[in-house]
Amino acid sequence: MKSISKMALGLVATATLLGALVEAPQAQEERTAKQAFGAVKLPNAASPEPLGFYAKGCMSGAMALPTDGPTWQAMRLSRNRRWGNPAMIDLLEQFSRDAANLGWGSGILVGDISQPRGGPMLSGHASHQIGLDADVWFTPKPAQPMTAQQREDMPFTSMLDKSKFLTVDSRKWTSTHARLVMQAASYPQVQRVFVNPAIKKKLCQTWTGDRSLLGKVRPVYGHDEHFHIRMNCPPGAAGCERQAATPSTDDCDSKALAWWFTKEPWAPPKPADPNRKPVKPRQVMVSDLPRACAAVLAAQARSEAEATYGGAPVAYSSQPSAPASVGQIDAITSNPANVPADIPLPRERPFR
Ligand SMILES: [Zn+2]
Repeated sequence: MKSISKMALGLVATATLLGALVEAPQAQEERTAKQAFGAVKLPNAASPEPLGFYAKGCMSGAMALPTDGPTWQAMRLSRNRRWGNPAMIDLLEQFSRDAANLGWGSGILVGDISQPRGGPMLSGHASHQIGLDADVWFTPKPAQPMTAQQREDMPFTSMLDKSKFLTVDSRKWTSTHARLVMQAASYPQVQRVFVNPAIKKKLCQTWTGDRSLLGKVRPVYGHDEHFHIRMNCPPGAAGCERQAATPSTDDCDSKALAWWFTKEPWAPPKPADPNRKPVKPRQVMVSDLPRACAAVLAAQARSEAEATYGGAPVAYSSQPSAPASVGQIDAITSNPANVPADIPLPRERPFR
């Protein structure tokens, strides 16, 4: 009798525990996806996996781009959006070295990649949700590392001549800018590079290198102060939704590009019909994302030990040095002096 009641108690306890476990993700699903994902400060401890689509998904097992490298600096650190798929972090590091070799200052300034677990954001960006999108400034990295405040305050520089309609400013745009964008497009793992339509047009008019790579360079609103690199789904990433391939031609005489130079994209929105009830746009909920995203949200954060390469704390380098050698790149880590105090600091990660 006694043992049965004990068993029953045990069952109740198990059921309660199960209830609690099941309840947590459900509660998460009632929040809007941007609130839920915008509140998380560290990635989950799991193998890297993009889940869903660039503009509707999340990311498991992210890694951080260190705030400083020999040929890169991460900008706007307070946004805590320098998390990506390891393939993206690798690509940015490689691109930064190639950029410096092109004569792009001492490397690149990196803007937003993704939130620690990806997902929709409270501000900016429809995409950048699965760790495979990154923004790079049209401003080269200065030789001296900037402070956190300087990285917040540094203004963007537009490549457009604002006194004209959709025209690149020839006083700012150089052949090095062109080579930088085309270098980004040249990597086989890069799916698309988004630039302002005026920049695409300028490249169409001037690029004398491999014209087929221009097909990857896509015109889109904005993207005159930075450009956006989008990677293909990494091999074997079963949960990653692919985007249609880009044309294998330069795509310079396409309707898509010409459209931007018509009045249509710039026309003010038509006034709403006063007889129609306004439709409130539906918020994206966690439950609208791939199922695995609720679990990614609910999962334990990666512990400091797990995020530390080799299990031992790594000494931070406060003076990132250029020029880079592979050995130096191995040794570069985040610089805690540059990170606002409320952001948990990613430690060293394996160099791949
Ligand atoms: Zn972007």
